[in-house]
Amino acid sequence: MVGMGKIARDQHVPALAGNGAFELVAAASPHRRLDGVPNFTSIEALLEGVQNLDAVALCTPPQFRYSLARAALEGGLHVLLEKPPGATLNEVAALVELAGKKGVALFATWHSREAAAVAPARRWLEDRKVSRVTVTWKEDVRVWHPGQAWIWKAGGLGVFDPGINALSILTRILPGTLVLKDAELAVPSNCETPIAATLRLENGLGADVRVELDFLQTGPPRWDIDVETNTERLLLSKGGSVLQVGNAAPIENPDNEYPNLYARFEQLVRDRNIDVDVAPFRLVADAFMCGRRTVAEPFVE
Ligand code: NAP
Repeated sequence: MVGMGKIARDQHVPALAGNGAFELVAAASPHRRLDGVPNFTSIEALLEGVQNLDAVALCTPPQFRYSLARAALEGGLHVLLEKPPGATLNEVAALVELAGKKGVALFATWHSREAAAVAPARRWLEDRKVSRVTVTWKEDVRVWHPGQAWIWKAGGLGVFDPGINALSILTRILPGTLVLKDAELAVPSNCETPIAATLRLENGLGADVRVELDFLQTGPPRWDIDVETNTERLLLSKGGSVLQVGNAAPIENPDNEYPNLYARFEQLVRDRNIDVDVAPFRLVADAFMCGRRTVAEPFVE
């Protein structure tokens, strides 16, 4: 495992421990250490120091992902990428090409797509016409991303770091191909990435999609996707774990996002296959390319 920060510790370590197909044999991180395994400060040292390594999970911020993934793929390892899969679309395309040449597995994970209500929502929406979608993805950056300076640096995505999770769900559950019609990004005067954004998208099949992202939410976070259809309304809340259709009672199932990701990775490794869907990342790239910038108050943590 490479990049022993919050997500590695909170999710990857327990998910790996719960999957008998994998054994966590070493960690690499510039400063942090993981108890119980040999630790290295770089991927180069890890690749040199551990014999018979099969795969790596890259859990660093996106700006570092490409060179780490290249090193691992060049070494013939299977690679799991945390989201987003890189800092640019071309990095990801280059990784896909390299993994294909090397005949190893490459998995660009989108953990929110594994949230309990996402697959049922997709099935329910298959038979309906969607007219309007409202995405509200608002959280307090000081609570959810304390000390994560990388998020405010170019390539760190700012409010799109969580916002891309909503886009990963949207691109999974809605029919058609989403295209960006309009975007506005509010960038604090002392940062390189947005603290808030609004997007308008359409899917070519009559759905008008509005997305509101905000890092300055106070109180509980809101991670909701509200879908109006020709029959009832569908509401996905709590990041895709709760499903409510019309006036029926909400259904919440336990979180199994990361165990599901590792189950999928296991299959990809066995088949030496590639699963890289950049649809959510493309929408973010489009918003950065075409969105209007406004200058927001400086952000002070
Ligand atoms: P984080 O807590 O800041 O941790 C990032 C870690 O990456 C740091 O511990 C740092 O190690 C390590 N790192 C930086 N450069 C490295 C390099 N060149 N080689 C190896 N390790 C390096 O960030 P995070 O919240 O875990 O987020 C990491 C990624 O996971 C992001 O892409 C994020 O979008 C995704 N993610 C996060 C969450 C979440 O809830 N936090 C949820 C899902 C996905 P040192 O501390 O040792 O310097």
